Amino acid sequence: MFFNNHLKKKNKVLSHNTTFFSTILAGALIASSFSQSVLASEGEVNLYSARKEALIKPIVDTFSKQTGIKVNLITGKADALLQRITSEGKNTHADVFITTDAGRLYRAKSAGVLQAIKSDELNKAIPENLRDPEGYWYGLSMRARPIFYVKGAIEANELSTYEALADEKFKDRICIRSSNNIYNQSLVASMLAANGAEKTQQWTNSFVKNFARKPKGGDRDQIKGAASGQCDIAIANTYYFGKMITGKKADQKKAAEAVAIFWPNQNSRGTHVNVSGAAVTKYAKNKANAQKLIEFLSTKEAQRWYADVNFEYPVRKDVPASDLLNSWGDFKADTINLNQLGVNNAEAVKIMDRAGWK
Ligand code: FE
Repeated sequence: MFFNNHLKKKNKVLSHNTTFFSTILAGALIASSFSQSVLASEGEVNLYSARKEALIKPIVDTFSKQTGIKVNLITGKADALLQRITSEGKNTHADVFITTDAGRLYRAKSAGVLQAIKSDELNKAIPENLRDPEGYWYGLSMRARPIFYVKGAIEANELSTYEALADEKFKDRICIRSSNNIYNQSLVASMLAANGAEKTQQWTNSFVKNFARKPKGGDRDQIKGAASGQCDIAIANTYYFGKMITGKKADQKKAAEAVAIFWPNQNSRGTHVNVSGAAVTKYAKNKANAQKLIEFLSTKEAQRWYADVNFEYPVRKDVPASDLLNSWGDFKADTINLNQLGVNNAEAVKIMDRAGWK
């Protein structure tokens, strides 16, 4: 197991081991698990993942089977995991960090806990706008954040762009979650890049006035709010819609069936998209294996599985989306380099605060 292996290697440094155990104790606070695959001769790689075990472990097991590299998987909440890697510093066991939203990947890069890698394979597989320009992180799956509208309450031809949602005719008709949420911060950051600070502030001020209720809950709750008549429009990430419509919870399924997707900004920059992505940590002890794991996750086989199980779009252009996602129609995605969402994050948050977006 991971523990024994580690101790064998590190037992010369007592203080390090002490740190290690306290780290493990601290780690117990985060839902964590170590994969149980057979100890292999090709070494190991330690993966901290903000994706739930069921959404990552099977593909990671395939990687182990194919390469003989053992993967020790720790799962937890995105912000808690980043905090953990940061506080562990040089002693971190994380070799690879997987998290969602380019805003968070940028945050990890800015915190100084990632390192750049050079990989022709990754550069070939992943479109340039879905990875860090300096190689610090790589998008592995793509999600869109379109407009959902209540069928019957709004006609698709009444909708056009995110910008148009600031129009008075949508007063008290929009459900969207809090400005604390990174997805909304990244959406505003993308508008900032497209329209500049002044226009984005004006837009946000008016957009907030159109909220049907004080922001609360997650993306699914916005779709539920729309379906229950609290609003006619909801903003949510596509995979939540996919999970709701295929899931076992009858209320969620019913809510999802009441709404339709509208792809905004099709005649301009395209619909806002974001990624889940992976990075090699700055103090990775198994750097070569870390890179191999990320490269594996960008292969056709892994992309197919990883996108499907998460109800997301593959980042590879040569891997088609699932039938369900294809049924929502083709759309033009904003091709802004997602790094820019991180660069613009602080200003986006200020704009949202000034507009009174709770
Ligand atoms: Fe999410």
